[in-house]
Amino acid sequence: MILKQNKSSKKILKKKYINNKIKKINFLNMNREKLYIFFKKIGEKSFRVHQLMKFIYNNFYDNFDYMTNFNKNLIYKLKKYAVIKYPSIIDQKISYDGTIKWILKIKNQNIEMVYIPEKNRATLCISSQIGCFLNCSFCYTAKQGFNRNLKVFEIIGQLWTASKFIFLNKSLKLNKITNVVMMGMGEPLLNLSNLIPSINIMLDNLGFNLSKRRITISTVGIVPGIDKLKNMVDVSLAISLHAPNDYIRNKIIPINYKYNIKNLLNSVKNYLFKSKANKNGVTIEYVMLNNINDKIKHAHQLANLLKNIPCIINIIPWNKFPGTNYKCSSNEKINKFIKILKNYKIIVFIRKTRGDDINAACGQLSGNIHNKFLFKK
Ligand code: SAH
Repeated sequence: MILKQNKSSKKILKKKYINNKIKKINFLNMNREKLYIFFKKIGEKSFRVHQLMKFIYNNFYDNFDYMTNFNKNLIYKLKKYAVIKYPSIIDQKISYDGTIKWILKIKNQNIEMVYIPEKNRATLCISSQIGCFLNCSFCYTAKQGFNRNLKVFEIIGQLWTASKFIFLNKSLKLNKITNVVMMGMGEPLLNLSNLIPSINIMLDNLGFNLSKRRITISTVGIVPGIDKLKNMVDVSLAISLHAPNDYIRNKIIPINYKYNIKNLLNSVKNYLFKSKANKNGVTIEYVMLNNINDKIKHAHQLANLLKNIPCIINIIPWNKFPGTNYKCSSNEKINKFIKILKNYKIIVFIRKTRGDDINAACGQLSGNIHNKFLFKK
């Protein structure tokens, strides 16, 4: 049956057309595989994807007109169906130690990312969610509540925007980003569908070409997430353990009621079994909270807990934020704690606090979230 186009169906078509026009795809949402599929659909060969990725990730072009290898017809098609859209830097704060906190605008919200330069390298700390819903009692982000998952273009867009800034501002002599840590706002393993394509682009030699050892996913310990991850990507894993037993962990990390230490460490072992990126072991993060988890007996408990897990312990001095009774353990206590762990032949590092004068240190990111569900006025 042929339907006659009446006025209202014309209206619908028009609306659809407008929607189509608005709903252009964003190339920063697509890893290489997805780009292949898209280019096939528009009748283009796969080598065009390689050229496109070079334009996007080497030259940081966001305008198809600059893509001089492309013929007019291809540029026309790309403009018709696609955009390169990314979060923009709206403010920056520079610490005395060279750390930079960039504030990014995403729609009507802000997120923060932190650039930490070192001698010959630089680490970018990025977020996977706006806010967080895990409610760890010692973390500032938790106080903001959960807002939403970040999309691929918002996760990879953080790295892209920072890299573009460094590329365009050569006179500032900022080191190229060599390491990425998913230690900003949010829990990466609760946003796997956006995290995985983002990691693919970081690892891709036509993307950011980062080594798997230099990308770290830090997780509170979402057990099903770690189990899934092991079949999806191989990158460095860091576990926010922060306690030597379930009694303390339940108190400071409520998700421990669901995924206790035993189950968590089992799942970590399975990940390590498959992983090449974690050959030196998993990183165990341990924040030093005065009189909570920093006693001598806790150091012994922790060492025993980890005796069958190849690991490196990263001791994190707790970073302060307003409105909490927590205090960081004294240097003396931290040193004693480390000494005990070292006696067990465990490799222990203490994480240097960077950018604390600009509230850019671990657990200090807030994102200044504007959301009616989070803040009652
Ligand atoms: N959701 C992920 C990423 C969080 S942020 C995770 O839990 O691992 C990265 C690290 O900073 C985590 O280990 C987190 O527990 C720690 N952290 C949170 N608040 C902190 C604070 N105020 N001081 C020091 N470390 C903190």
